[in-house]
Amino acid sequence: MSRPLTFAVSDRFADKRPVVAATLRQLLEVAGWPSHQKEGEADLGYGVTATTTLAAADPRAWVGSSNDQPVSREGVMLPAGAVLAGGEIDWVYTAHFFVTGQHEWTETPDGLRHRDPDKAVVRWQLDRHRPVEIAAKKITEHLRRDTTPPPPRPPWPRGKAWAVALTHDCDRIYRYRPRTYFAEAVNLGRSGNLAMAGLQSAKGLYSLAARPFLADPCLTAWQRMIEWQRRAGIVSATYFGTWSRFDRNGHADDLHYDYRDPNLARSAASLTDSGCELGLHFSIRSEATPGQLAREIARFEEVTGHRPTGARAHFWSLNAERPEDTLRTLFEECGLAYDTSLGMNATSGFRRGVGYPYRPFDPMTGKALGGFELPPTVMDEALHLSATTPSGRRQAFRDLLDEARRNGGLVILDWHTDAFLPGYQDDCFPDIVSEIESLLAESECWFARPDEIAAWAARDRWQQ
Ligand SMILES: [Zn+2]
Repeated sequence: MSRPLTFAVSDRFADKRPVVAATLRQLLEVAGWPSHQKEGEADLGYGVTATTTLAAADPRAWVGSSNDQPVSREGVMLPAGAVLAGGEIDWVYTAHFFVTGQHEWTETPDGLRHRDPDKAVVRWQLDRHRPVEIAAKKITEHLRRDTTPPPPRPPWPRGKAWAVALTHDCDRIYRYRPRTYFAEAVNLGRSGNLAMAGLQSAKGLYSLAARPFLADPCLTAWQRMIEWQRRAGIVSATYFGTWSRFDRNGHADDLHYDYRDPNLARSAASLTDSGCELGLHFSIRSEATPGQLAREIARFEEVTGHRPTGARAHFWSLNAERPEDTLRTLFEECGLAYDTSLGMNATSGFRRGVGYPYRPFDPMTGKALGGFELPPTVMDEALHLSATTPSGRRQAFRDLLDEARRNGGLVILDWHTDAFLPGYQDDCFPDIVSEIESLLAESECWFARPDEIAAWAARDRWQQ
């Protein structure tokens, strides 16, 4: 175990001090050191003189930083508040700005603020850069210049230089689903849209007629996915839901399948048999309904016989104002080890400026939320949108992997369970299957399950 590093934060930061301390702890942890805050003499000082003194922005920059604007420095987009009068850069403020999602806010023309991760990724060039890890490297350089810190813990297990996890969201298991179509027809009928109601009824009747005779294409696609993984020796994680649109308080965009469906249980068992992880795909309103996540976890246990280690929100639906509140419930109340919901729909990259497992904290109090975020890197739809041809998508995929290889990062792939459905997103998944398989032969690539990666970040990394 490394000697913990110490850091001191100036009193001038007043009520922002715990948040500054949380950011420093996180940066040092990413860099490979445990650390704690201390008064007086310390290895690192922020706003105070210490063995190494980090450039510090005015405490006022920390308040209301969500209005900060991008400026380009050292080839990266930084918040303007991080660039100090003498041209120095405050890397602690930079890391805080991104990791707490200050940059995600956007304003509509009528003055309403909301989070828009896809827009933020493009605006702040987070499709290319990981400013939080750059900040961790800069602080490491400072430390090494002025002191002799203990050797940092390695970012990945012995012999591994970067990591990849394949994950799947189970959003559909049937194409032929009469109940969904009839329910939608009733709703449309009630709202007076008779033409659409008629169309949905026709689909319902067709589904009802087809179901006994045709193998359902969605289910078949999922079975092909499971079979491919087994053949290739790939272990993945699949997040499935236990609260559908037909459940009390269910949202119209929640999943259509019932958690007691025998085909779901069969697929789950076969994934477990091949060493894959199962996790919870929680419902849209669960973040806003007290006790709901615990109910969804209880149902998960009914299907699998165990509690999930990790979860991903359907539609990334964490609390819109304060996503950290949902994470706190997942970790503290439900005891999950990790979340992997801070992703994007149409872009790939690093939504919070990090491509490495990290411990999210409360942006107001600095208090750790109790688990890890494994940041999703790319969803199938985003890869589909990244180019118009199969070769263009393959190149985009290779570029993503190359970036992680160069920078020792983590790539979390998010593919839906029916991605083998013929024609699904122009077959963008079957087109890159060989790229994924080739990673297994790459000795420095740690192809792991998310629960293994979370255990590494929380425990194993600090023990060896
Ligand atoms: Zn989903």
